Amino acid sequence: MGRGFNVAVHVLNAGRLTLAAGCTGGTKRTLGLMTSYAEERVQFEHPLADFEITQRKLSRTASDIYASDAMLGVLASMVDRGDIDFSLEAACAKVFASEMLWRAADDMVQLAGGRGYVKPYPYERMLRDSRINRIFEGANEVLRLFIALNGVQAPAEALKEIGSALRRPLRNLGLLGGYATSRVKLRLGQTSTLDIEVHERLKRHKDYFEKHVAELGSATDRAIIRHREHIIDRQLVLERLANMAIDLFATACVIARTQSLIDERGIEECEREIALCDLFCVEAGRRFRTSRHMLDGRGHEVDDTRRSVAASVRGGKGYFVTDAILDE
Ligand SMILES: Cc1cc2nc3c(=O)[nH]c(=O)nc-3n(C[C@H](O)[C@H](O)[C@H](O)COP(=O)(O)OP(=O)(O)OC[C@H]3O[C@@H](n4cnc5c(N)ncnc54)[C@H](O)[C@@H]3O)c2cc1C
Repeated sequence: MGRGFNVAVHVLNAGRLTLAAGCTGGTKRTLGLMTSYAEERVQFEHPLADFEITQRKLSRTASDIYASDAMLGVLASMVDRGDIDFSLEAACAKVFASEMLWRAADDMVQLAGGRGYVKPYPYERMLRDSRINRIFEGANEVLRLFIALNGVQAPAEALKEIGSALRRPLRNLGLLGGYATSRVKLRLGQTSTLDIEVHERLKRHKDYFEKHVAELGSATDRAIIRHREHIIDRQLVLERLANMAIDLFATACVIARTQSLIDERGIEECEREIALCDLFCVEAGRRFRTSRHMLDGRGHEVDDTRRSVAASVRGGKGYFVTDAILDE
């Protein structure tokens, strides 16, 4: 009796984990199809795979799969432990993997050109089928709020600014990086967080990761001080914090996974995985800095304008400009 909430959370966590796993498998399959198509289709006397824009699609998809796979490994080890609450990590993995699959399916359709859009080719259906993953098991917007509000609550209480206005927190977003790495550490059987010894080749990523963990903590504090109890309604701010946290969790998993492979096989046998790690960490770092810049800089002015334009749209029941070139 009285354990219904726990049971519900357990079911949701398991669902999000399996959905993330399904999306990761689906993206691997999509990448295989993308590769075959890009090698076979010749345009301008070259297979599509020769073109750099195609190569960007293939490489990003591969590095995202690598990150998603690494997150799944960490999550699976947490499940095996049996005594760890992995709701935050499961939400991060679900959001990441479902958006990765959607991007990959979209890239596949684009790569296949006209054939991407029509039957009997399988690509348009892959795009339709992948779409649901961003909606069910918790719509990604709602999961981002869940991730961010979990992170905001602890520092908010520490600052004694807003306390009861927020729903029950789980933990400090600013600590998510350290938290994530302690999970990784459990899997690796080591005793410290990203203080795990990393190979020289990974050191730069580790340094940036640690810097970003600290920056997420201070960005969270500043957001709370600025918005106080209204932080709950500042969804654009929360969304940025969540995006930063998701990329940090993924980065921690990627670095730890790569180090683990280096330990197992030796550095010479890991060049391709290190390239995936490099690509992911650099891209995730760029996304992180963009969000941080929006939080630190004049992002709130853009957000004000968004609210204002949305109010006009609502007031005008849609597009509100009266002398539009195209009438309805
Ligand atoms: C094929 C399929 C299978 C399903 N299987 C199951 C199942 O087995 N079990 C089950 O329980 N459910 C199932 N569902 C339901 C599914 O979980 C819900 O559709 C999903 O959770 C979204 O809820 P909703 O449809 O009510 O959308 P809504 O909650 O109305 O959301 C619509 C949109 O509004 C956004 N939104 C909602 N609230 C907020 C907010 N506070 N801030 C910002 N944006 C917000 C959402 O992100 C979303 O984009 C299934 C759905 C489908 C289509």
